[in-house]
Amino acid sequence: MRRRLFTLAIFLLLGAVINVAVAWGCAITINVFTVIPYVASNPVGDDHWSVNRWRRPGGARIISTRYRKGHYGRTNVSPSEVIPEWGRLAHPMNEFYLGSTTIEQRVIDARGWPMLSLWCEVERTHYSDDFGTVRVGIDGGIEAPLLPQWRVVAGQTQPRVLPLRPIWRGFLTNSLLYAAILWIVLFARRYVRQFIRRKRGLCLTCGYDLSHADHDACPECGARPKSATA
Ligand SMILES: [Zn+2]
Repeated sequence: MRRRLFTLAIFLLLGAVINVAVAWGCAITINVFTVIPYVASNPVGDDHWSVNRWRRPGGARIISTRYRKGHYGRTNVSPSEVIPEWGRLAHPMNEFYLGSTTIEQRVIDARGWPMLSLWCEVERTHYSDDFGTVRVGIDGGIEAPLLPQWRVVAGQTQPRVLPLRPIWRGFLTNSLLYAAILWIVLFARRYVRQFIRRKRGLCLTCGYDLSHADHDACPECGARPKSATA
């Protein structure tokens, strides 16, 4: 029982490791900016909120921009319907309420396959008439070293980022899936090997040839053949 739990824990751990490796692979290789962004833009009281979302299998990047005192058009879908439950974009940051910020822009990124499983903040910028521009870079992630930035449009780029914060639903689903695939692959290999050995009249445990003589037990490893029919 204890050994089975240990094996299960190892498989779950390996599933999680594969999940992180896949998510980071997606972070390095999948350029979400090759697709047209989904745009949602609505007034929020006196202010305005606009969200651009790029989404491809394996990755997503979302840019949320809030403007104080001003309206800039309206889409049928509101930004709150477009933002994910992770990413903390539902409410503006405290600085936005304090009155010093005229524009708040936040960029978040998530990676993972089949579900998004890790995310981070790519950039957080406050534009203020009084204090100028305050910009915070990558938070909860690492910029991928030695690789060029993604090209969004001509003259505008975004960094490639390896995200570190878990999106629990996707993280657990992906990890379980990869653990199960690993389990099946290893189990299937053993099953096929035993099937071939049984067909050829070999010892199921070690592969020693048992077909030329009657054996109660394998002379090589001592295992007793379960099906002694040749
Ligand atoms: Zn044997």
